[in-house]
Amino acid sequence: MIIIMEPDATQEQIERVVKKLQDNGFRINMNHGDVLTVIAAIGDKRLVQPHSIASLDGVREVKLIKEPYKLASRESKKENTVIEFSNGVKIGGNNEPVIMAGPCSVEADYNGLLEVAKAVKKAGGQILRGGAFKPRTSPYDFQGLEEKGLELLQKAKDETGLLIITEVMDTQDIPLIAQVADILQVGARNMQNFKLLKALGKCDKPVMLKRGSAATIREFLLAAEHIMYAGNEQVILCERGIKGVDSSSTRNTLDIAAVPVIHKYSHLPVIVDPSHGTGRRYLIEPMAKAGLIAGANGLMIEVHHDPDHASSDGAQSLTIEQFNTLMTSLNDMMEKLGLKNAAVTK
Ligand code: PEP
Ligand code: MN
Repeated sequence: MIIIMEPDATQEQIERVVKKLQDNGFRINMNHGDVLTVIAAIGDKRLVQPHSIASLDGVREVKLIKEPYKLASRESKKENTVIEFSNGVKIGGNNEPVIMAGPCSVEADYNGLLEVAKAVKKAGGQILRGGAFKPRTSPYDFQGLEEKGLELLQKAKDETGLLIITEVMDTQDIPLIAQVADILQVGARNMQNFKLLKALGKCDKPVMLKRGSAATIREFLLAAEHIMYAGNEQVILCERGIKGVDSSSTRNTLDIAAVPVIHKYSHLPVIVDPSHGTGRRYLIEPMAKAGLIAGANGLMIEVHHDPDHASSDGAQSLTIEQFNTLMTSLNDMMEKLGLKNAAVTK
């Protein structure tokens, strides 16, 4: 349940409410807004009657959360979550959309990775992407360079100052990946790997959770809830397309409407990935634009120095030149529309 305190509620009154809930086994999450303090209480509501809380001094309103996700819900936290990094980059809320770009997989050719990283930086991107541990549909496809890939990402990070996002597939790899990554990515295939989500909940790095290809928005938010409930509230959501009825022209169906829907029901930042969302190079620009207009807090885009020879996802990877053109076009659009970020904050 959500307890909204009166604007003039005293510290003692707030503590009394918290104590009563904790004594009944509830877990508490406090939100001290500019005007109001909101207490999100997670537990079995049969153990304490809502009216017995509503009648305590200083309580304005008690609301029962209708959605099964609580910590991720807009009801429990009105303000947008903003994830801040030590170099000043911020993801979420009304901050400028961030660009995460780089190759699908980190490959052995470090010069290629560095060329892409430098281009990402020069074009105004903030985060270098690249998979070292790769979830591949076929066991015969390139599986990633693993530790060696992480070393190359670290080198590119040291040379460019870009933040790093890379995928984690297994709980046992978290400590190693967290040494290099600024954001740990959970791939679409692992969206409901609850053991992994719970382990990431114990991690002190932000997590970007990609939507499963057959997941509803509710399941997506519940997956985020697992990470948050386990202790890590720095969660970023990523819409990357779902299975549609027609894959003859697009690899997936990019659910652009999911962006404002998630902003309505959750305070977490949302990223759009038009690369996996469409699987086609020529569709990246229109879908990236659509994502930003729909209110995405950033984009994830695959870029390769030589897409025709990429170890994975070459068909959807932009060349460096195409990426530069895209960035110019996105900046022009945002400027023309007078947008910093179109995110719906309701
Ligand atoms: C990726 O971003 O590297 C990836 C594998 O994407 P997804 O999990 O969305 O398929
Ligand atoms: Mn890929």
